[in-house]
Amino acid sequence: MQTFGLPFNSASNQIKIIQGNNGPWSHKILKNGQDSRYAVDFELQIGAEIKAAREGTVMGIIDSSDTYYDGNDPVIGLGLPFGSTNFVAIRHDDGTVAYYMHLAKNVPIKEGDLVSKGQILGVTGLSGWIGDKPHLHFQVNNADGVSLPITFEGYQGPLEHDAIYHQNLRIEGR
Ligand SMILES: [Zn+2]
Repeated sequence: MQTFGLPFNSASNQIKIIQGNNGPWSHKILKNGQDSRYAVDFELQIGAEIKAAREGTVMGIIDSSDTYYDGNDPVIGLGLPFGSTNFVAIRHDDGTVAYYMHLAKNVPIKEGDLVSKGQILGVTGLSGWIGDKPHLHFQVNNADGVSLPITFEGYQGPLEHDAIYHQNLRIEGR
């Protein structure tokens, strides 16, 4: 299993996972074919700096959306039109691709840029289906689009949603 840096500053932000691997809301193979099974949602305050978890090349950016949904209805959340979620996609030298999603508009990088590990890619914002907590959605897919299980430097806790939920996420209705 590959290990990545945490995609934010863990000295100034708590590590709080609100949807882990195979989470019930959107960390699955979606109807549009997107494989997000091993995604992780880190709760972060709006404006938190998002950092590259590994060096690579910027292969995709959407950063002009003002559209977001802060409710919990998956029909609405997953039904948002493509382009609603501001994100950055970084391709690594082994062909894997990391997705950093729910960013604020106007990221400080552009397609084709080489980014180093720890470089700031943007900040958390309101775009796409954020649910009731602003967060960074992070996932790594292989070159064929298959979601990969990964681990993070500096985090030894569980990543599987059910394991996290049973430990500290007993929130009514979630
Ligand atoms: Zn997510």
